[in-house]
Amino acid sequence: MPSGAVSRNGFPILAREIAAGQGHRQALKVLLIGGIHGDELTASSIVFKWLELMQKPAAQEFQWKVAPVVNPDGLLAAKPRRMNARGVDLNRNFPTPNWQQDAPRYWAKVTASDPRRYPGSAPLSEPESRWVHDTIEQFKPDVIISVHAPFGVLDFDGPVKPPSRFGRLMFNRVGVYPGSLGNYSGLHKDIPVVTIELPNAQVLPPDAEVQRIWQDMLGWIKRNVPAAPKLAMKP
Ligand SMILES: [Zn+2]
Repeated sequence: MPSGAVSRNGFPILAREIAAGQGHRQALKVLLIGGIHGDELTASSIVFKWLELMQKPAAQEFQWKVAPVVNPDGLLAAKPRRMNARGVDLNRNFPTPNWQQDAPRYWAKVTASDPRRYPGSAPLSEPESRWVHDTIEQFKPDVIISVHAPFGVLDFDGPVKPPSRFGRLMFNRVGVYPGSLGNYSGLHKDIPVVTIELPNAQVLPPDAEVQRIWQDMLGWIKRNVPAAPKLAMKP
């Protein structure tokens, strides 16, 4: 399961690829990532729970690439923290257009140089964000699911219809930030990105809700995500 990539502190970034079941040759490709913010513990643990559900038929219509802990240094710090070992908010480190101008300016002006939201010195300056970027280039997902906490909503960026709800989580735009994965992939690469914000960073929802979110997510992907080539679906 080690992807070959390592974090800033040399910890492996674990990833697992799960082929679609037989009879699903043209399967949609789903990239599922958790824990890009290291202090959102449930965002990683729910992805481990979903790995079990991936053995069931409903999930086997898709081809999966799953990375439950994208920011191992943040998660495994003595006190888990949002940023990676270099103090970079990985979800502000993606190469959105005009990053060099916009990301540092947004950080200084809007966040008042909040260290928890430091975008880094350059786009893709960090091995963890580079791994996500390179995985998108190589795996070519049709949709990306990125799990966070604790805002208790769904956010969405991309060229298809947003999900209205997964389980109890309702669609509610959180925002578009320079350097975020949603902004980069959803708006600039035209790969839909669902951001799941679980309601609590330390306590998982009950098992029934963990399953409902999962089932609603599979249903939405099936109904709304077009298989490549995506351009044919545009007006
Ligand atoms: Zn987060």
